Amino acid sequence: MKKIVLLKNKEKSLQRYHPWVFSGAVYKKDPSLQDGEIVEVYGAENQYLATGHYHNNSICIRIFSFVQVEVDYNFWKEKFEKAIQLRKNLNFIDNFNTNIFRLINGEGDFLPGLIVDWFNGHVVFQFHSFGMFLLRDTFKSIFLELFPDQIKSIYNKSAGTLIESNQKDSQDGLMYGEIDDVLVHENGIPFYVDIIHGQKTGFFIDQRDNRFMVGQHAKGRRVLNLFCYTGGFSLYALAGGAELVHSVDISKKAIDWTDKNVALMPQKDLHTSYAENVFDFLDQLEEGYYDLIVLDPPAFAKHHRAKDQAVKGYRNINRKAMEKIKPGGLLFTFSCSQAISQDDFQTIVFSAAAMERKNVKVLKHLHQSIDHPISIFHPEGDYLKGIMLEINN
Ligand code: SAH
Repeated sequence: MKKIVLLKNKEKSLQRYHPWVFSGAVYKKDPSLQDGEIVEVYGAENQYLATGHYHNNSICIRIFSFVQVEVDYNFWKEKFEKAIQLRKNLNFIDNFNTNIFRLINGEGDFLPGLIVDWFNGHVVFQFHSFGMFLLRDTFKSIFLELFPDQIKSIYNKSAGTLIESNQKDSQDGLMYGEIDDVLVHENGIPFYVDIIHGQKTGFFIDQRDNRFMVGQHAKGRRVLNLFCYTGGFSLYALAGGAELVHSVDISKKAIDWTDKNVALMPQKDLHTSYAENVFDFLDQLEEGYYDLIVLDPPAFAKHHRAKDQAVKGYRNINRKAMEKIKPGGLLFTFSCSQAISQDDFQTIVFSAAAMERKNVKVLKHLHQSIDHPISIFHPEGDYLKGIMLEINN
């Protein structure tokens, strides 16, 4: 197997099982090494450290094993079985009430670069590393073996997640079966999912538990769902007995999909959607109308360099929501930027509260759902942070 040797003292993070090697840590590498190849990593004393996928990028190796192994069909199959066993234990498999969940969560399942989502028998592969992408046919065979009769389709959706130099090789497309109207249930609530044209793998499965929380506290409230995408939080609020629910997203396509989903609900007449920019919507809003607001913007910081700008963006939008919400109202506010830590986010919300001179109580910290495990050795995997707040004058 091809080899990479690290600089002296650069083996520490691998000894703590962190799954990334940065290019600055490399002393020498096999000159024939190509993007996506499997490589063994050695320390300066020539001791074996780990095995992973090489990529000529700032994160240049993604580690999937800390013991020397033969990386073959069975190696991957055993890893997938462990990930699937966890979902079985968590009661996601064959659960008709919730038939949409994450089967494999990259580093969190010790499979960096690989995301697999399950949409009621429709499987979506999302590759974040070229090495994992090159294995797609092997993975397809393993899934068809592990879920005989249950898989309706397998779709590769990676054009947006592989780094630019590899995107030309990755056309999104169907790898198996057929995709028809994909209707799923989450906690008993129905949704249509647009796997092919939707954002990410089609649905933000990571917000399931938080949508449930919103549903639990929606009764009798006027709910505003900002950055609603296909209406996830809105349908839970309707099911939870909201007086009315308004949903806002800049994307007309997302709003059309929200309407299609809301139409599945008996409370559909209590809902109105707005294809608008949230910042403009909040500017024009009268104070005190809504008493539950969900604020779930896209990642404002896609990388660390954009962090300062993102902090301002999150602060502004939280200020606006705090200014406009009815006193005593509940604000569910989120950040899905990996570069913004839980502490950063709390500080942002703190500044917004201080600037708006509001009395703000933290009721609960919120995270990604339990089918999105985080490796204890890879704290960066804890990307979704939310806070449930009570806002008072
Ligand atoms: N809460 C959603 C996921 C939100 S994803 C769920 O539970 O499914 C973020 C959404 O923000 C996307 O749909 C995107 O179209 C929308 N968006 C991005 N910028 C926006 C803006 N300035 N105003 C309104 N919506 C915006």
